[in-house]
Amino acid sequence: FLRIDGVSKRFGDVAALRDVSLDLREGEIHALIGPSGCGKSTLLRIVAGFEGADEGAVHLGERRIDTLKPEARGIGIVFQDYALFPHLTVAQNVAFALKYADDARRAAGTAPLLRMVRLDGLESRYPDELSGGQQQRVALARTFAAGPRAILLDEPFSNLDASLRETTRREIRDILKASGLGILFVTHDREEALSFADRISVLRDGGVEQTGLPKDLYFRPANAFVAGFLGSTN
Ligand code: ATP
Ligand code: MG
Repeated sequence: FLRIDGVSKRFGDVAALRDVSLDLREGEIHALIGPSGCGKSTLLRIVAGFEGADEGAVHLGERRIDTLKPEARGIGIVFQDYALFPHLTVAQNVAFALKYADDARRAAGTAPLLRMVRLDGLESRYPDELSGGQQQRVALARTFAAGPRAILLDEPFSNLDASLRETTRREIRDILKASGLGILFVTHDREEALSFADRISVLRDGGVEQTGLPKDLYFRPANAFVAGFLGSTN
């Protein structure tokens, strides 16, 4: 469905990604985990089109997308800080993204999107009048607005305090699952990956060490690094 083939990327002397291949299935939540600096964000940025790869290709269905402009790729991305417009209401934030949508979605307006993320009733609030979890759902509604076929999330829960994190995680997981889209989601939190994802890929120094079901990675790690990373507490 979303296929990343042999993607490499250097920043000067740093090999941020080395020959990374990964496939994201339709309807699956796929976690990308690994230590700080291993290339997780760089990979998302390349798939979304904010960064060019030195080598490799990305396909969505039959279509090669790494040569397309970001807005033409059918990929939505949610960053860690959500980047909502502070001077716009919830509804206005979501409406802003509708200009990238097809006619049917634009005509339907923000209501179905806000219902989808269970924010109906809060449409006139401003971002600073919302909890972190609610802000995150606005960001998600905004991403859904453009009608993507896959969504990328970079450390979506890292800004939330512990009490909100657990419930928000569950809410977001339900919303993402219900959407039926392919979800590629970055975290450095192994617990989060094990509980949240259908499959996990472990990245180390810009390369994929192993991809598999959570239980397979946990019980049958391919090497000492994967075992250590999934078994350690950081
Ligand atoms: P973290 O968990 O800390 O967010 P990450 O896995 O997302 O880390 P990346 O941000 O993808 O890591 O960075 C991978 C490597 O590429 C790092 O060594 C980083 O310093 C380097 N890097 C990333 N972006 C740039 C850039 N624009 N210019 C130079 N080096 C970069
Ligand atoms: Mg990162």
